[in-house]
Amino acid sequence: MKSRWCERAAAGLDPLALRVYSSRLLGAEPSLVLFGGGNTSVEHVVDDPRGGQVRALTIKGSGTDLATIAADGFATLVLDDLLPLRARARLDDDAMVRLVTRALIDPAAPRPSIETLLHAFIPLAWIDHSHADAILALTNQPDGAARIRGVFGGDVGLVPYIKPGFELSQAAADVFDANPGVQGLVLDKHGLVTFGADARESYERHVALVSRAEAHVARVWRGPAAASAPPPAADPAALALRIRGRASRRRRVIVRFDGSPRVRAFVDRPDAATLAGQGPATPDHVLRTKRLPLLLDSVDPAAAAAAIEGYEAEYLAYVRRGGGPHAAVVHDPAPRVVLAPGVGMFTCGRTAAEADAVARIYRHTMNVIEGADALGGYRALPERDLFEIEYWPLELYKLQNAPPERELAGRVAVVTGAASGIGKAAAQRLAAAGAHVVVTDVDLHGAAAAAAQIADAGGAADALPLDVTDEASVAAAFEHIVLTVGGLDIAVSNAGIAAAAALEDLTLAAWRRSLDVNATGHFLFTRAAVRAMRAQGLGGSIVLVCTKNAFDPGRDFGAYSAAKAAELQLGRVLAIESGGHGVRVNMVNPDAVFQDSRLWSAQLRAGRAAAHGVAVDDLEDFYRARNLLQTRVTAADVAEAVLFLASDRAAKTTGAVLPVDGGVRGAFPR
Ligand code: ZN
Repeated sequence: MKSRWCERAAAGLDPLALRVYSSRLLGAEPSLVLFGGGNTSVEHVVDDPRGGQVRALTIKGSGTDLATIAADGFATLVLDDLLPLRARARLDDDAMVRLVTRALIDPAAPRPSIETLLHAFIPLAWIDHSHADAILALTNQPDGAARIRGVFGGDVGLVPYIKPGFELSQAAADVFDANPGVQGLVLDKHGLVTFGADARESYERHVALVSRAEAHVARVWRGPAAASAPPPAADPAALALRIRGRASRRRRVIVRFDGSPRVRAFVDRPDAATLAGQGPATPDHVLRTKRLPLLLDSVDPAAAAAAIEGYEAEYLAYVRRGGGPHAAVVHDPAPRVVLAPGVGMFTCGRTAAEADAVARIYRHTMNVIEGADALGGYRALPERDLFEIEYWPLELYKLQNAPPERELAGRVAVVTGAASGIGKAAAQRLAAAGAHVVVTDVDLHGAAAAAAQIADAGGAADALPLDVTDEASVAAAFEHIVLTVGGLDIAVSNAGIAAAAALEDLTLAAWRRSLDVNATGHFLFTRAAVRAMRAQGLGGSIVLVCTKNAFDPGRDFGAYSAAKAAELQLGRVLAIESGGHGVRVNMVNPDAVFQDSRLWSAQLRAGRAAAHGVAVDDLEDFYRARNLLQTRVTAADVAEAVLFLASDRAAKTTGAVLPVDGGVRGAFPR
């Protein structure tokens, strides 16, 4: 590991700015810390709001990510309120949290790290703590302590494993006090702490100690094989669908697939079961990955589903064995990491970001495991210690105080023709309700812009090119969707085109083009959606965006109206055939939605204006005036109907047609 320190960047910074700077240097190194792991602090003198100045400890807030931390990610505490606690014989977690919280200078600051007292009790001003892969490869062995001694001699103090909190802080301070000349402390099966009189000293010691550990590991393990892996032993998409279907029984999850050579090098090992059956590299990871991954014996999709059932039963038994006052709260027992020999790794999370975090952590876990194994054998913490962290009241508190989830949390929605108009509005509305939305369109650029807009608004969206008239394009899109999110719950079949011409003047090409997009396109897309939903076994909801023309056609619009009538009938038959599998199929019939619409081209406007005998500029008013409510129908109105039909609010409705047209009498469903 190389030092990233830049004296020019660090020069002239005040202690807090410097603390932000060097914290980010640690955070920039994924082999040191991932996603909120690790913490840093500085002791300095600050203004006391009561007057004068006060000695303070500024420490990272709990759960804040070092890679992106800013000044507001830290909490500042009165040091002289914390130091007397060193004399206590014992202090339980609740009392410790109360006393630490009371020492905050600004009560509105982030919750200080659970390792605050460890930082307070070590008398050096700058402290850096990480869960470095290479350090864990040394400690996570049958003879970890001897290994640390062998590599570092007396340069580090070794602190036996203790759950973070008061006891660990005392033990770490005792080890330091016994030998204040050490450059750092290795926390057994947990990580590394370094300290220094200035920011650079603490950081450089961290890099130097991790580099020594890396060099020691590299003598026996050169890193994962970089070569390409043989082709997968089973179809990863078929497996992903079954895994998501089975792992989502209690709570919908997003499933990510990683079949990279690095992952294959681990899952294809003949001893993968032994290695993966040990546990996480550092206790912090148990909250994301669970104690154990599920390693599949068979990559047959049905066998994978049965294996998840077995995993859940074992997980519930583990919770019962752990017992304790908080075992009444049971996390979702489904696995977070599923390893498929010959195929790759599937990771599960409530969101795609969470599934990604699990994947990144487990890829680092593979490095720790393989490094430790090459040195002499990988050994994780015993089950009891990991249970204590997974069901630690301080962690459960975080979960209980999380904001309530949105209606469609964990659901995946795929929308066609979503770069503009109704499709875009539907994608936005479903994302606002919490769904992970796949925005598809023939116009990838437009789809990407719509997805970016959703992300800016705090939603989750991917963009994908999709030509609904092309069977291969539909198949490729669904394969991509299944491998990136695991499957789907909602399919909105919306893509459409329109051209105005009297039937006697209509070209065969224009007729065929309308049927291709407005009828066959819905067939190809909904067929793929139903197949995926049935393989998943979670039911699903399909919404077809039709048109009021299907019931109430107008002149000079034959190719469009006939194809859309076919779409509507397709939806009804699909509802009949899919009901037994819990897949609902409903239709919305909008009328005259002009806003942000590509369907309403200048040519179409001219054609419809001529057909109705009004001026082009009066066309929108004409449509508004002809409906019962005399109102303009917007894309957002249609999106609201799509959300209703897509969500469980319409759980008992299938085969229905919901008009969103202001009330067009001739279009009443019949
Ligand atoms: Zn830690």
